[in-house]
Amino acid sequence: MEVLLNEDLAALSDLDEQSLFESLSQRFRQDRIYTYIGDILVAINPFKYLPLYEKEVSESYKYHEKTKLPPHIFAVADRAYQSMLGRLATGPRNQCIVISGESGAGKTESTKLLLRQIMELCRANSQLEQQILQVNPLLEAFGNAQTVMNDNSSRFGKYIQLRFHNSSVKGAKINEYLLEKSRVVHQDEGERNFHIFYCMLAGISPDDKDMYGLLDPTQYRYLNGRYGSEDIVRKWGEKYSEVCNAMDMVGFEEQEKVDMMTILAGILSLGNIMFEPTETDALRVTDKSMGWLKATAGQFGVQEEELLRSLTCTLSVTRGEAIRRLHNQQQAEDARDSIAKVAYGRVFGWIVSKVNELLAPNVDFDVELSEIGILDIFGFENFAVNRFEQLCINLANEQLQYFFNHHIFLMEQNEYKEEGIEWESISFKDNKPILDLFLTKPIGILSLLDEQSAFPQASDRDFVDKLNSKFKSSPHYEVVRSHSPLFTVVHYAGKVQYNGLGFLEKNRDTIPASIRSLFINSVTPLLSLLFAATISRTGTLMPRKAKLMQKADDNFNSTRKQSVGAQFKIMVSVSYLQHSLAVLMEKMFVASPHFVRCIKPNGSKLPDQVDNKIVMDQLRYNGLLETIRIRRDGFSWRPSFKEFAQRYNILLIKPDLPLTKESCMSILNTTEIHGWKCGSSRMFFKYWHQEELARLLERLGKA
Ligand code: ATP
Ligand code: MG
Repeated sequence: MEVLLNEDLAALSDLDEQSLFESLSQRFRQDRIYTYIGDILVAINPFKYLPLYEKEVSESYKYHEKTKLPPHIFAVADRAYQSMLGRLATGPRNQCIVISGESGAGKTESTKLLLRQIMELCRANSQLEQQILQVNPLLEAFGNAQTVMNDNSSRFGKYIQLRFHNSSVKGAKINEYLLEKSRVVHQDEGERNFHIFYCMLAGISPDDKDMYGLLDPTQYRYLNGRYGSEDIVRKWGEKYSEVCNAMDMVGFEEQEKVDMMTILAGILSLGNIMFEPTETDALRVTDKSMGWLKATAGQFGVQEEELLRSLTCTLSVTRGEAIRRLHNQQQAEDARDSIAKVAYGRVFGWIVSKVNELLAPNVDFDVELSEIGILDIFGFENFAVNRFEQLCINLANEQLQYFFNHHIFLMEQNEYKEEGIEWESISFKDNKPILDLFLTKPIGILSLLDEQSAFPQASDRDFVDKLNSKFKSSPHYEVVRSHSPLFTVVHYAGKVQYNGLGFLEKNRDTIPASIRSLFINSVTPLLSLLFAATISRTGTLMPRKAKLMQKADDNFNSTRKQSVGAQFKIMVSVSYLQHSLAVLMEKMFVASPHFVRCIKPNGSKLPDQVDNKIVMDQLRYNGLLETIRIRRDGFSWRPSFKEFAQRYNILLIKPDLPLTKESCMSILNTTEIHGWKCGSSRMFFKYWHQEELARLLERLGKA
């Protein structure tokens, strides 16, 4: 029965793209959105409510036998949890669950379901569990937004680490990657600003609205006049109470909430300040927006004149002499927008640090803790115009794909070779050359970007010209003939044309000293705290980078000991992102991975519709066909003789068995397990053998 329904595609005997697609879409039409490929879970977004996550379902997947129940995201949670406890098999105790897929494919929903089920599995300290579950609504309000791809698109990546002692959760930590701050000041057609702005405006009480100095939502330029129907506004309002509730649960203090909302209100007012040239070549704030200037100063708790100065001129010190340079209109608008971005980015960073402080209570770090990490990173993006942000996002996805390939194909097949297992090698689309294009030193895309960013006079055009001359013959790079600084990268998931405009500025991501001092002097305690943590700019990238790297290395331990003020992510240049991802990858490479591949069934966010091309493309670039072959023919579990004999000697009821190849074979010969192989230092098992052996142990335990 199960095989007929193709619950596990690794059991398919004829295999081609078409049959893979057919099996998945046939299941999808019956609302069977989950399918296994061996130990990998494929999840197709249903875009509708399905009764798959009720209490009974959650109960039934606790400590279940994989083959007895249909594929499910809860099964992944169970497997990770049991493996972390060492109940399933040998291997590293630390687990990481890697969720991938394009924007709107269902990664964040899967993350929430996993988190919920893991909390169900470990029920111990109920307050901490509740706090952990409340983190998501909070982060989503500040870090998600409506985009053309997804009404609740994550505009940052996150890695959630859950720390356990024995079976109970002791703490959690969120690592956040690259919030798309530019959204605060600009949204493309059909997109919105971060949810929190709409929630706040819809949900706040009239008294509070006065207190924060908020006006009618249609007034704010940063919201683009888009607000929504009454129905939508009601939903935003409900969401606001959820967010406030979440803040209370997680442990934010009243004053902190008030400060946070005041800063958000200040950002909105700031966006309405407009400038015009005067007859004398100077610059002034338009008469109409003088009120906004006053409002912003009030909300940020800063002096109006000082705010005005930081908008309209730059102060630089040359040979001990302070020189004030007046901005032109464009520069003043840029200064305004960068203040907004920086303030929002800081608030977000602060929320994450605060959450981390609150979620690691009384953890005794001397006790050995094991960990389950869940990675929910922004999906691959290819828009009409692709900017710096898309480049960072797509680079992160290249790295994840590499991690997947490395685990599923490279590592496994190398071991067959080393251990003398007969094996016909399976080819796969190796994206290492694309990663090299980005990361090679000193002439990868990133190095060139950093190099050009270090020259104050360099332009985006210079940067793209450099790329063109270095990479014109690379198979993964295409020169674009245009007046604009365009270039194309051939990613594993397809070609993406980038517009290099703004790359250098965004990569520098500097905060002018005047803006920093403006905020440090703020009477709003949170705001001055946020900016007190700034690392001073020395003009070159290197010293800053070194400090950032040290920050990225902060582990769970040291983060706890630091004060909140000291832990902010300071600036997010692409190298910083790169480094923090590298740290993450290192962590993931030494854990046992679990993969969830999310698939988007169509491009219109509609239920019950499968668009062949859209799905087929995802299956192709995800390498799912090759994955099925390796899971069907390969040996995904490969314990050493020692590990295996130690764990399963009990099946022979001989605890003093030598930990050798011969012992492993005699253990296995007493079972009815078939299809395993023996290498020169380790055993080779199919993915289902683990479960079969676990069942034997269990039976023995019961006997
Ligand atoms: P992004 O990269 O843009 O953050 P994502 O992969 O995180 O995208 P989600 O936000 O998880 O995508 O999913 C998009 C939407 O699809 C959800 O808001 C929800 O409406 C719907 N959805 C996803 N998974 C499910 C599910 N299991 N059941 C019902 N609806 C779902
Ligand atoms: Mg998401």
